[in-house]
Amino acid sequence: MPEISSSKPYRIGRSKTGLGLFATQKIKKGSKIIRYFGPMLDSKNKKHDDIDNKYLFEINNRWTIDGSVRKNIARYINHACRPNAESDVSSRKRKVVIRAIKTIEPGEEINYDYGTDYFKIFLKPIGCKCDHCEKKRAKKRAEARAEKLRLKLKAEKKAAKKADKQAAKDARKKKAAAKVTTSKAAKRNTLSGVKANAHARGTGKPTKTKAARTKPLGRVQPKSPARANRAS
Ligand SMILES: [Zn+2]
Repeated sequence: MPEISSSKPYRIGRSKTGLGLFATQKIKKGSKIIRYFGPMLDSKNKKHDDIDNKYLFEINNRWTIDGSVRKNIARYINHACRPNAESDVSSRKRKVVIRAIKTIEPGEEINYDYGTDYFKIFLKPIGCKCDHCEKKRAKKRAEARAEKLRLKLKAEKKAAKKADKQAAKDARKKKAAAKVTTSKAAKRNTLSGVKANAHARGTGKPTKTKAARTKPLGRVQPKSPARANRAS
């Protein structure tokens, strides 16, 4: 790891994606933090044009800085979609300076936006790990969870409603069936009531008929006139 003079407001440290550059002192908004430097590559030079690494900083169509050299501390600065610094490019001077666009507090990681091309080629395929994108992903996950829960509750509510509806339908059916039975039973009851009354009148405590009551007791009446004749 390259040495950094203690007078500099940054240090190299562990970050989410490996190493990163962190503020050791308060860095005021607008102030220059570090220069991004390295050998100048000329696109007109075939040899230069063949060089490829992920620290190439294109200044314009012709010139590119090869920032892969050890002394280029700025190469430790990671990308962020909502950064606290920016790369200030002077095309004419072929010079790049990293400048704070917010006041950076000690301990905060310094980052700048690497630009759309880098993002599309290197970050999008693996998923950007910057705070902003992580938060966005977490928010999306939370939203997905909430949506799943909402759908689950909705389905449950629908099922409960359906069950209620079915129960009400069943109850109506039962009631209607009961009504039919009752009316049949009522009919039966009326009939059996008549019978029952008749039965009650017919049996139960023996009621003596008028004839029985008036029937003379002790006297046997001749069963037939022939027998009566024989007896006398
Ligand atoms: Zn991002």
